[in-house]
Amino acid sequence: MHFLTDAQRDLQARAKALSDTYVKDMAAELDRTEQYPWDTTKKLAEAGFMGMTIPKEYGGQGLGYLDTVLVIEQMGRNCGVTARIVVEANMGGIGAIMAYGSEEQKKLVAPYVLAGDKPAICITEPAAGSAATEMTTTAEKVDGGFRLNGTKHWITGGGVSKVHLIFARVVENGEDLGIGGFIAIRGEDEGLVVGDREPSMGLRAIPETQLHFQDLFLPDARAVTLPNGYRKGFAALMNAYNAQRVGAATVAHGIAQGAYERAVDFVKTREQFGRPIAEFQGLQWMLADMSTGLAAAQALIYKAAMGTGGQFPDMQDAAQAKIFASDNAIKVTGDALQLHGAMGYSRNLPMERMCRDARMFTIGGGTGQMLRNQVASSLLGMKLPQTRAGHLKLAAE
Ligand SMILES: Cc1cc2nc3c(=O)[nH]c(=O)nc-3n(C[C@H](O)[C@H](O)[C@H](O)COP(=O)(O)OP(=O)(O)OC[C@H]3O[C@@H](n4cnc5c(N)ncnc54)[C@H](O)[C@@H]3O)c2cc1C
Repeated sequence: MHFLTDAQRDLQARAKALSDTYVKDMAAELDRTEQYPWDTTKKLAEAGFMGMTIPKEYGGQGLGYLDTVLVIEQMGRNCGVTARIVVEANMGGIGAIMAYGSEEQKKLVAPYVLAGDKPAICITEPAAGSAATEMTTTAEKVDGGFRLNGTKHWITGGGVSKVHLIFARVVENGEDLGIGGFIAIRGEDEGLVVGDREPSMGLRAIPETQLHFQDLFLPDARAVTLPNGYRKGFAALMNAYNAQRVGAATVAHGIAQGAYERAVDFVKTREQFGRPIAEFQGLQWMLADMSTGLAAAQALIYKAAMGTGGQFPDMQDAAQAKIFASDNAIKVTGDALQLHGAMGYSRNLPMERMCRDARMFTIGGGTGQMLRNQVASSLLGMKLPQTRAGHLKLAAE
């Protein structure tokens, strides 16, 4: 990429070196054992890849989203789990806290992340998935703080993350004030209970669990002060979440890039009908399409990460990058497996793992359908409420 600075090229090269050695060697074992890679998080922290977006005054490097994307892309080529850890340690929850949090909050969470903690972001509930604003977890205002009650599910890092950013409905004297973000530390705050683990199809070494908040008391100082208050709290938190979406798009893209590279190597060496299968035009065209999709996904991701000058990536850019990269990753990993024939279907090669891992990104972090709703709403300049009541209200206006 001609526009990368020398420092970014160096960062990319360092990420590639770690990914092509340690991370690559560990990936199959992590998938098999489904154990969280604590040693990998140490290596990532030592390399400066955890909390690299944290400003220098809090111990980080103050790097941008494009820098982070360069690292995620490299990790994804060999291990989706490692790439996801880099996303969550630089975007998502930590990004929101660094943008909106108080001095005290930033000083509380930064050391955890810099030492290797991957924060958890807790939005989804059993009855509130795509309809996230219908969440029922409450943060009731009490003397000196808030008391949280409710259940989240599919929380990445449940039981391994220390720092949690919890989205909850703020209630004071029985009145619903809107949605706020609250910081909890597992192991320190009583009432944060880790529930059942989901048996995931892919990305198996990061636990996805339920989280129960059972009279979880958090002092006032743990409530993140959001611009425009709790009424617009969800919008502010989701604005920060645009960075996480760019990160998720990059993991999908990195996995696809890794699968494609393996396919290119394979077709040059595998012989059938007395010649390398790379000589068959049908396969050459598959590779050409794979490469074109990857180039397009990368361009959308870099555009979103480079931003429009705002604090976070633009919503539309982030959505388009995730829509395209996640669909493309499913196609490219599937084609890469196909090009390997039966070898691709074997668990001795990483192709089947890459297909399983890539499958996630049209679902987690906003489904492909919901992101298309968002893009359509923006390009048409129309509110597109998804509830029946919202449609009726709009029709009446
Ligand atoms: C591996 C993984 C990790 C995750 N990690 C986290 C995490 O760390 N934190 C967190 O809070 N959440 C997390 N999630 C949850 C994720 O964000 C939700 O799964 C997602 O938002 C979709 O919600 P749902 O699964 O309830 O699907 P539903 O909302 O029930 O949707 C079911 C289907 O209906 C479609 N659909 C629903 N409404 C509409 C509509 N209005 N228009 C068109 N289509 C629609 C959806 O696109 C989908 O295809 C994770 C999920 C996965 C799979």
